[in-house]
Amino acid sequence: MIEEMVKKLRAEIPAGVRIEAAAKTRSPEEISQAVAAGIDIIGENYVQELLAVRDRVQGNPAWHFIGHLQTNKVKKIVGLVDMIETVDSLKLAKEIEKRAEPLGKVMKVLIEVNSGREEQKAGVFPEAAVGLIEEIARLPHLSVRGLMTMGPLAGDPEEARPYFRATRELFEKLKASPVPGAEMEILSMGMTNSYRVAVSEGANLVRIGTGIFGTR
Ligand SMILES: *Cc1c(COP(=O)(O)O)cnc(C)c1O
Repeated sequence: MIEEMVKKLRAEIPAGVRIEAAAKTRSPEEISQAVAAGIDIIGENYVQELLAVRDRVQGNPAWHFIGHLQTNKVKKIVGLVDMIETVDSLKLAKEIEKRAEPLGKVMKVLIEVNSGREEQKAGVFPEAAVGLIEEIARLPHLSVRGLMTMGPLAGDPEEARPYFRATRELFEKLKASPVPGAEMEILSMGMTNSYRVAVSEGANLVRIGTGIFGTR
């Protein structure tokens, strides 16, 4: 089942777009099946779940943190993940710096953009993103690799299109006028119901949960 879902997605999604399995609530066995089917990035939302499954998954995927990260949990995951996709404040970035430095690790991060400018949601507002990236790019143990956005939750994925587009435009702007020390390689957007729209708007990393593992 998981294998078929991954094969179908891989056949449909353009080769230049990477597929990350969003693995919240999934068992190490389910995640291992996705890896065996060719998924090489696993996204986890919760620190406890990451700790519970990280060493029980077969294969050797990259691990990305994709949930809201509290500063007091940073030290638990810095040694365990390859990328944190949800950096949205200088406070969080400084905590990552503080915990990565003694490990001699440079943590790859994406800047999470609150493309819908929703008050209660995570992410930096688009107009504040460049300033934040300039600050974070100065931290020696963080390496900014691109942008991530969720977009407002909508039933109709077409409703997410303007937000994906605005995030892509910000990504392109940062490519054209780079912030020293910040690379724009990865544009992470799109989930099971919205990845087609996200890919058509330039996403090169999509985060898929139910579309790989079935309903939660
Ligand atoms: C759960 C989750 C996804 C995937 O959601 P699905 O609708 O199950 O594909 C993607 N990104 C984040 C940040 C998530 O928490």
